[in-house]
Amino acid sequence: MEKRKTICLITGMPETMHVRRVAKGVFGQCDKYGYNVAVFASMSHFLFFIEEHAKGENNIYSLPNFKLFDGVIIDTVTLSSDSTGKVIETVSRRIKECGDIPVVSLGMPYGDYHTISGYNEDILREMCRHVVNVHGKRDICILTGMKGHPEAEERLAVFVDELEKLGIELDEDHKIYGDFWYNSGIALAKEIVEGKRPMYEAVITAGDYMGLGLIEELTRHGIRVPEDMIVLGFDATDEAMLSEITLTSFETNYTKTAADAVDYLRQKIEPDGDIEPFVPDIRNLCHKGMSCGCQPDITRSARTFRDSLYYVYHNYSSEDTYNNIDIGMLMESYASETLTASATPEECLKNIFGKIYLLLPFVNFRLCLREDWLSYDKYLKEGYPDKMLVAVADSTVGGLKFANADDAFTIDTSEMIPELNEYTEKPCVFYFAAVHFGDNTLGYAVLQRELSDRHLLNLVFRNWLRLVNNSLEMARAKNRYVQLSIVDNMTGLYNRRGMYEKFSDMLKHTNEGDRLMICVIDMDGLKYINDTFGHSEGDEAIITMSRAIKKLCGDKEVSVRAGGDEFVIVGLGAYNDDEPKKRTEHLADILEKVNSGLDKPYQLNASIGCVLSDENSFEFEKLLTKADEAMYRCKSSRRKNRTTH
Ligand code: GH3
Ligand code: MG
Repeated sequence: MEKRKTICLITGMPETMHVRRVAKGVFGQCDKYGYNVAVFASMSHFLFFIEEHAKGENNIYSLPNFKLFDGVIIDTVTLSSDSTGKVIETVSRRIKECGDIPVVSLGMPYGDYHTISGYNEDILREMCRHVVNVHGKRDICILTGMKGHPEAEERLAVFVDELEKLGIELDEDHKIYGDFWYNSGIALAKEIVEGKRPMYEAVITAGDYMGLGLIEELTRHGIRVPEDMIVLGFDATDEAMLSEITLTSFETNYTKTAADAVDYLRQKIEPDGDIEPFVPDIRNLCHKGMSCGCQPDITRSARTFRDSLYYVYHNYSSEDTYNNIDIGMLMESYASETLTASATPEECLKNIFGKIYLLLPFVNFRLCLREDWLSYDKYLKEGYPDKMLVAVADSTVGGLKFANADDAFTIDTSEMIPELNEYTEKPCVFYFAAVHFGDNTLGYAVLQRELSDRHLLNLVFRNWLRLVNNSLEMARAKNRYVQLSIVDNMTGLYNRRGMYEKFSDMLKHTNEGDRLMICVIDMDGLKYINDTFGHSEGDEAIITMSRAIKKLCGDKEVSVRAGGDEFVIVGLGAYNDDEPKKRTEHLADILEKVNSGLDKPYQLNASIGCVLSDENSFEFEKLLTKADEAMYRCKSSRRKNRTTH
């Protein structure tokens, strides 16, 4: 089957009302037309108070390869809240790099792309009609946003025009600029209380926060809402429904704007396809609270209140409990403790796999990491490497399921994830989010859901990712300390402690008939190099020798710098009796090659003692002593040879 068309939605902060409305509009239309959606979003506010964290989140915008999409919707209203402009800059650059693709901007102009304007006008007019026709108020004040701000000016102009139609002329005293935040509502209330402004019958605010600030300050001074003055808000935020005097507010209609953006793209992508426009129910956009004197919508308040609670009791034996996992369930799962308890990176990935159920419902989940995510030498601050490692995968539809290194595979980052380019049984959404700690990018996570689920990203996904981010960082740190304690800094080979640790790991995976092999190798005449050419030249000789030792060491064996100029190779497997002889010859070959390319006034040589145990006998110390003795025998015979020749 041919892959579905895919619409890319570039947005941010998925939990905000605005983005939830945008997502609803895009998902609803794409579901109708059988399109997939790929969402790229930062999980935190662009100006989040931990700057490093915000930077890490924003790196997700450097991931999309727009060549794989059929159309792009940019949620410009959300992106414009990044005052640094970096997010918009990154997205523009990535789109340009990918050439020709239809792009549409939501709500505000964005470069030269087609803009779908908001549909707020009808709602703003409805607000005026509500105040005048339902409540019979005529002395009305408008509190809008910043002077010159496009949305503030647009909202004011519509209010003024509609009130005029209703026979009400507003003078300058009744048109006030604010800043969309609580402060300006409080400031207006103070002026009213101090008598600098009249006691209006009604105040229509162009944003909920201003309305809430106004009510709070008026009430503090004994002015009653709605009895003395009615107040209306705009944006239908959760705060409006949760305040002590609930604020009557009207929803912005970005669901319609976003749905129309999909229709616009459909006309470009499939000009012959039918268009079924989204028809909003304007009446539903009014959220009645107490502040206007209407009968408040108690059910809506209760639902908002319940959703905003962190802790919810569950019936864990109910079949559909896991269809709607909330933050309470996430906290009660003790995922944090499980993940941070991971002793090794491998265990951490397994534990993450064990907690993916908290993201139900989903089709597929992928955790993609940089191949060198454990490295402490490299911090990835911007962009992604060309290749990524699919480190963890889960599926509820028979797709890939793994968390172990043997199944992990690398992909070209330009693919993002292979499933994006495959046919999906039903239209799906792929959520892409950054996996990072601070501003150090470790990779990205992809959650694939069916559009018909109607599930939007919520605080469970964000907080789940935070746990994953923290646990990966913890795994990195633990791994680093282990590495520092078991690896020799100069050569990168294991040290003596590492040798014993690795040997005990090996003992966990033995097969019948296995034998232990130990080679002890000591450089010849290192003192001479040190004394003649200096200690640092001696260091270099040790490093060159360590590379030769790595070549001599098999994949499943361990190479060790046991101290000074002495190296050890430990292996456990089905070795033949002639293995020691073969190793000795192999070392001679390797050193011959090294010396032929060595531009030094000295040669590198070493003595080797290589011994095998009996089958199923793994007495390490005994064999090590035997190997040591063999090495010394080799050394003295080499010395004898040198003196006789
Ligand atoms: P032999 O042929 O008998 O093995 O003699 P050798 O000169 O290689 O000396 P030996 O193995 O007895 O001792 C190793 C010397 O290597 C002793 C010490 O001065 C030197 N050495 C040990 N660690 C280091 C190091 O990290 N760097 C350098 N440059 N020299 C080291
Ligand atoms: Mg030596």
